[in-house]
Amino acid sequence: MPLTVKKHRANLDQLRAETEAAIAVMQKTYDELDPEEVASDVGAGEDEGGSEGDLTRFERDRLRARIAEEEAFLSVIDAAHKRAEGRNWKSCTRCGKPIGDDRLEALPATDLCVTCKADRGNW
Ligand SMILES: [Zn+2]
Repeated sequence: MPLTVKKHRANLDQLRAETEAAIAVMQKTYDELDPEEVASDVGAGEDEGGSEGDLTRFERDRLRARIAEEEAFLSVIDAAHKRAEGRNWKSCTRCGKPIGDDRLEALPATDLCVTCKADRGNW
């Protein structure tokens, strides 16, 4: 069955909702990881107390990077939504060939055919 623009938009909406939910979960974890609190939990007078706080800081940095990635992905999804308003939403933005319904169904936010995507990976 060919992918309709209606279905494509629904796929993008679902992807956006999933991404937002993932961000919310990570943000919650991030907020719960308070390095000051963890450091103080270790207890006063404990000389090795710093390491757990450092681990928490590391984990927070990792989460913050993931959140930033997911937020960037939201704008990719929004761009795909905008493209879906035009006539060429099924075409690769680089070579103009069809992206393919199967690929768009699996990766609704993509704007490249599999060939161009592979090329980009080699940059
Ligand atoms: Zn292409």
